[in-house]
Amino acid sequence: MYNPDDYKRRRLVVLGGGESGVGAAILGKQQGMEVFLSDSGTIAPRYREMLDSENIEWEQGTHTMERILQADEVVKSPGIAPTLPVIKAITEKNIPVISEIEFAGRYTDAKMVCITGSNGKTTTTLLTYHILKDAGLNVGLAGNVGRSLALQVAREHHDVYVIELSSFQLENMYEFKANIAVMLNITPDHLDRYDYKMQNYVNAKFRILNNLTPEDAFIFWQDDPVITAQLAHIATEARLYPFAEHEEKLSHAYVDGDDEVVFDTSDTSLKMPRTDLSLNGLHNLYNSMAAGLSACLLDIRKEDIRKALSNFEGVEHRLEYVATIDGVRYINDSKATNVNSCWYALESMPKSKSVVLILGGKDKGNDYSEILPLVESKVKAIVAMGLHNEKILEFFNGKVDKIADTHSLAEAVEACRSLAADGDTVLLSPCCASFDLFKSYEDRGEQFKAAVMAMNPTDNSNK
Ligand code: ADP
Repeated sequence: MYNPDDYKRRRLVVLGGGESGVGAAILGKQQGMEVFLSDSGTIAPRYREMLDSENIEWEQGTHTMERILQADEVVKSPGIAPTLPVIKAITEKNIPVISEIEFAGRYTDAKMVCITGSNGKTTTTLLTYHILKDAGLNVGLAGNVGRSLALQVAREHHDVYVIELSSFQLENMYEFKANIAVMLNITPDHLDRYDYKMQNYVNAKFRILNNLTPEDAFIFWQDDPVITAQLAHIATEARLYPFAEHEEKLSHAYVDGDDEVVFDTSDTSLKMPRTDLSLNGLHNLYNSMAAGLSACLLDIRKEDIRKALSNFEGVEHRLEYVATIDGVRYINDSKATNVNSCWYALESMPKSKSVVLILGGKDKGNDYSEILPLVESKVKAIVAMGLHNEKILEFFNGKVDKIADTHSLAEAVEACRSLAADGDTVLLSPCCASFDLFKSYEDRGEQFKAAVMAMNPTDNSNK
C-alpha cells in the first residue's frame, strides 16, 4: 500500500525538461523530495523559469551520471528511449524508472479516463474532454495532449482527468490504475522502438489494463484482430464495453439499421442519428463511440452527450480542411504518421480516382500494402515528399498512374498543383514521421497550410 511518508526526503531524478518532466519535478518538490532534473538537450526558457521559481536544481546539455545514479527513483519523459546509455546505467543499478503519469497518479484520487491506441488517441481524448467539460464536470486534460498530469495534480484540483496515453508512457507504468481504459486500435507503429517486434508494442499498450478492478471499465474496438487476440490470452477483471460499426454479440455501441448510433451501458441507453456526429469518416465513428461510452459510464446526461458529439469542432492536422483552390480541395492530415491512419483518411475520400496523395518522411518500418487497394481505387497520383523517397517510389511504381519525386514542401505543393484538376483533392496524409524535413508534424502541417494559402485562393467556398 502506498504511504506518502515513504516517498518524503527521497531523491527524485527527472530525466527530460519538457512538459511532463517539469511537471513531475514540481510535484516531487511539493511532496518534499529532493529533486534534480537533467536534460541532455536544451530546456525551453519557460520551463527553466518554472524550475528556478520552485528552486529546483537542473542541468541541460549533459547528464551528470554520479548525481543521477544517487536517485531513489527516476521519472523518465516518454520521449527518452529505454535503450539510451543513461537509462541502461540506471536500470543496472536497480533504480526504479517510472513515467510521469505513474508518479502523478500516486497523489490524486481523481477518476482517470485513459485513452490509448495506435491512432485516434488525441481526437478521442479531446472529444471526451469536450463532452465532460461541457456537461459541467471539473475535468482536467492531460498526457500526450494538453498539460502535464503531475503539474495539474500539484497546482489544481480536478475530479476527473482525461489522459492520452502513448505506448511510451505506458512502458513505465506499474501501480497506476485507470477507472475507464479505452483502447481504440492497435496497428504497427513505432516498431523501431520495439525491436521491430509487434508483440512488444502490443504488450506496452495492454499495460493500460494493469490493476483494473471489477469497478472499472475497458472500452475497446471489437473488430480489431490484434486487440481481440491479445484479450483471449490475458485476464482482466474490468467490465468490458466493446464497440463495433454494426451490432455484434456484446456490442455496447454500434450503428443500427436506421443509421442511428446506439450507446448502451447498464445505466444509460441513448441513440442519435449518425449524421449528427460532427466528425466524419469511419475512424471518427469509432472515436465518437469510445468517447460517448466513456461519458455514459460517467453518468453524463444523454442530452449533453448528444449535443457535445454533434458540436465538437475537430482537431488541427487531422483531416483538416484547408482551402479549395481552382476547384481542388486541400486537406491537411499531417498527423497521419503511420500507414493505418492514412488508410482511414483514404477511406473517407470520394469513391473516384480523384486524390493526389502526398506521402513520405521518416519511415518507421512501413508496409504500404495495407493502403494499396485504396490507393488503386482512389488515388490518381502520388507525390513523394522526403529526403529518402526510394521505398515509396519502388513500392508504388507501376501501381499508380503518376508519381512525383520531391524533396521539399514547396516542390511537393507545386507538383500537386500541376497534377490535380478541378474536383480533385490534394491530401497530405504522409504515413511517416516528419523529422527528415520538418521539426514536427505540426510544423509540417503549418507549412503545408501556409503554402496552400499562398496560392491566392480563387474559390474557398465549397468545403
Ligand atoms: P493519435 O493521437 O493516436 O496519433 P489522432 O487523433 O492525432 O491520433 O489522429 C492521428 C491520425 O489518425 C489522423 O490522421 C487521423 O485521421 C487518423 N485517425 C484518427 N482516429 C483514428 C482511428 N480510430 N483509427 C484509425 N485512424 C484514425
